[in-house]
This record gives sequence, C-alpha cells and structure tokens, in this order.
Amino acid sequence: MSDSISGKTSLDWEAFAKDLAPVETISEPVLVKKRSRDFFWYSPILNAQLRRSFGDLVAVPKTTEDLAQCLRVAFEHDAPITIRGGGTGNYGQAVPMEGGLIIETTRMNRILEIGEGYVTAQAGANIEEINKALHLQGWELAIFPSTQDIATIGGFIAGGSSGIGSVANGMLRDAGNILSLKAMSVSDTPTENLFEGEAVNHIHHAWGLNGVITEVTLRTVPHRNWIGCMATFDTYAQAYQAGYALALSDNIGRKLVSTVDARICAYFPRLADHIRPEKHLMTSLVPAEDIDAYRALIKEQGGSIDLTMSEDERKEMGLPHVFEFAYNHTTLQVLKADRSATYLQVGCPTPPDAKAIKALRPKLGDDVWQHHEFALLDGEIVTFDLPIVWYTTTERLRKIEATYTENGFPVYDAHICMVEGGGLKNADYRHLAWKKRMDPKGLLNAPKSREWPNVKHLSPEDIEALIPS
Ligand SMILES: Cc1cc2nc3c(=O)[nH]c(=O)nc-3n(C[C@H](O)[C@H](O)[C@H](O)COP(=O)(O)OP(=O)(O)OC[C@H]3O[C@@H](n4cnc5c(N)ncnc54)[C@H](O)[C@@H]3O)c2cc1C
Repeated sequence: MSDSISGKTSLDWEAFAKDLAPVETISEPVLVKKRSRDFFWYSPILNAQLRRSFGDLVAVPKTTEDLAQCLRVAFEHDAPITIRGGGTGNYGQAVPMEGGLIIETTRMNRILEIGEGYVTAQAGANIEEINKALHLQGWELAIFPSTQDIATIGGFIAGGSSGIGSVANGMLRDAGNILSLKAMSVSDTPTENLFEGEAVNHIHHAWGLNGVITEVTLRTVPHRNWIGCMATFDTYAQAYQAGYALALSDNIGRKLVSTVDARICAYFPRLADHIRPEKHLMTSLVPAEDIDAYRALIKEQGGSIDLTMSEDERKEMGLPHVFEFAYNHTTLQVLKADRSATYLQVGCPTPPDAKAIKALRPKLGDDVWQHHEFALLDGEIVTFDLPIVWYTTTERLRKIEATYTENGFPVYDAHICMVEGGGLKNADYRHLAWKKRMDPKGLLNAPKSREWPNVKHLSPEDIEALIPS
C-alpha cells in the first residue's frame, strides 16, 4: 500500500490510480502538494491553517467520460474529492481538507460555441483564451476576473463573484450573466444535470461543493477598443468621487473603475515612470470613442490623466493590463514586495459617499490603506473596499474589522475557508439541498461548509424547507 501524502487517508492510492485508468494521474508528492494550494497565503490566518493540507492523488480528466470515471471510482472508495481549476482562489477553496483525490479540470478546456451574445465552454477552459477567441468574433466576456490568464471559467463560476465588467454588467449571480451550466453528480453512475436561468445559482459560488461543473454558457457583450486609463488626484476622496462620477456617467462606457491609495501605488514599480508619485490613483477601462468625454470628466473632478493606452500601446510599452492593478491584483502587487501585507473585504454605504470614506480614513489607522472597486449591484452603483492591511496580530486585524463595522461598513471575512464565512455570510440551503442531490455521500469538499454536518442527514426537500422565506 502506498503512503498517504495527506496523512489523512488510508486508501491504497496506487491501486486507486490504476482504477482510474485511462485517466491520467499525478502521484509525485511534490506535484500533488503544489496542486493542493491556492492563494490562501494572502491571509496569515488561512496560511497557518491550510499550508499543511494536501491531497493524495491528482487526476487530470480530458473528457466528461474521464471525469465520470474519476467521480465513479471516488464514490466507490468513499474518497474525498477536491475540484481544482487554475488554483487562484483566495480562501483555500481548492485546498483538500481531508486529503483524497484532486481533480484538475484544465484539460477539459474546449470552447464549444460562440454565438450572438453568448459563449459555451468546457469548465476547464482558460478565461483569457475564451476572451481571445471571442475578440476574433467581435465579442468579449461581460465579466471576467483579473486572474484571467490563469483561472478557468469553471473555477470563476464556482468560486468567483464579480470582476472586470461588473461596473457595467453587475455580479455573476445577476440574471442573464450565467445563462446556463452543466454539473456532474458524484455517484456510481455520475450524470450531468443542466441548470438554466435562475437555477444556475444552485451551483454558482458553491465552491465545488455540490457538483462538478462541466460546461458553462455565459453572457458576452460586443467587444470594444478599451483604453487603459490611469488618472491621479491629490486626495483619496477626490479619486473616489471621480470614480463614482465615472461609474454613473451616461456618456462614458466603462469596464473597470477602481481607486487606490497613493501609498499602495508606491508598490507598483512598473508604473513608476507613468503615474505621478504620491498621488491617489483611479484606474479604468474606457472605450476609445469616449476618451474625450473621459478627459473632460477627470478635469472636472480635479485630476490629472497620467496614462492612457490602447491594447497595442500597452504591449509596445511592455506594461501589464490595467486590471492587474485592480481587484485582488492590487494586493498581489504589494505582496510581491512584502509578505507582511494582507487585506480585507468590506462593503461601503450606498450610494457611494466620498465624505464617509474621508471620515473613516483617520479612524482606520496608518496600517490600513484603502482600495475601492466600483460595481453594479441590484441596479445601483456600489463600492467594495479591499484595503491593504499591514498585519501584526489577529487581534489588530479583528479590531480593524470592528472599526469598519461600527462605522457602517460591513465586513465579509476574507480570512475564513468556509463557504458560509465570507460573501455569503449565511448558509445557502439551496446549495446544500443540491449537494445532497448531487453528492449524497458528501465527498466534494465537505469540510468547507459549516452547515453541511447539520443537514446532511436530511432529504434535499427538507434542506430546501430551511430556506428563509
Ligand atoms: C490576484 C488575484 C485576483 C483575483 N481577482 C478576482 C476577480 O477579479 N474576481 C473574482 O471573482 N475573483 C478574483 N480572484 C479569485 C479567483 O481568481 C477567481 O475566483 C478565479 O476565477 C478562480 O478560478 P480558478 O480556475 O483559479 O479556480 P480554483 O481556485 O481552482 O477554484 C475555485 C473554487 O472553485 C471550485 N471549482 C473549480 N473548478 C470547478 C468545477 N469545474 N466545478 C465545480 N467547482 C469547481 C474549486 O473547488 C474551488 O472551490 C482573484 C484571485 C487572485 C489571487
């Protein structure tokens, strides 16, 4: 019997790998350990909890038949399963908590169909590849994460929530953004189930707990010639106010609006020759045809336009995409230089209020540097603060969170690896009912749900009855 890499299972993994044939497997411990990690190390709390959690074997299915074989064999052996796409999640979603089988989807990566306003792709398709294929036909994804070069579309739908495009097109969960998806059950005869319309939210953002997404159909929008824009301001409140004005504008298109404290910008060495030092930054993507209106808006808001670049100019200058200074990439830019940084996820009062942001700044302290993303939520422009926090102790981190909360800024815990802990806050009984239907033995990533142990003995219908009316 081969040793268990995780130290948590007693299965014979060599024999298990043989049972999976012809599916390709990886059993080399170093490679299995590498595929047991994601970006949980953003959080010192999660890093301490998860850095020694590993799987035992990786399977790399190339087809849905291969995937069905993996799920059938795991079901037979009661093997814990963790689904992995690009491994760019921030909360340890793709970390096996109980050891077991890791199923990496990146070879199930075909783009199946591009049509008027939609794209259908296999779950393991790389998001940048999808966007490239769409661009050739005059389309682009309505929403995509700043990690598009690594992330898979299935991982984004299972683990993500919003991203580049959300300022115009809303959240992934909003009607019409995920048009349909297929997910496979874990049983002795794994089957694909189709979820359409509102039903996609039975599976979306369930962290791979309640079925393996095999295929997704997503909304696309006409491709535009996006200009990456960087404008700087003397005060953070000015940058934030300008961000709000752009996000609301009725004559300027936008795919991204993001504001960053000047102290964070000092950690963007690639931009050093391009933006004014010690100024607060607003990063955006604006279509070429609206650039004059954008210039007028920045002037009116008291800012300076430091950099505008088309996609070709960006490549010539050798600069990253502007969205690599936004969303969780902002934090990554800082972490590249100093691993003592971490971050929080915080909601802000609606409608966005630059005065409230300004009033909060001195209360937060010098170890908290603000960064806001603008997005459309339920038809209204909202902002999320993803501040850099210079981590010292967990007590201090919780104190900062308390300061936000006491001042009317709700905190969505970024330092917890439970699906109910962060954005969702409460148990999603729809997700759990579908887990019971699709994964009756609870093999898929079960320890990531705090509520699953309380409901796993119930029928799917009884779990659904717990949904608050
Ligand atoms: C620098 C940085 C920037 C980021 N920016 C954004 C952003 O702009 N917007 C955003 O929403 N997130 C963002 N994230 C988080 C993350 O990148 C995205 O959610 C990403 O799309 C996840 O895709 P992935 O393929 O890497 O998924 P993984 O990390 O591999 O998986 C994520 C979750 O989905 C599950 N999963 C993966 N594939 C499947 C499948 N086929 N079926 C069922 N479950 C599956 C996994 O089990 C896991 O729970 C960022 C993270 C980093 C580190």
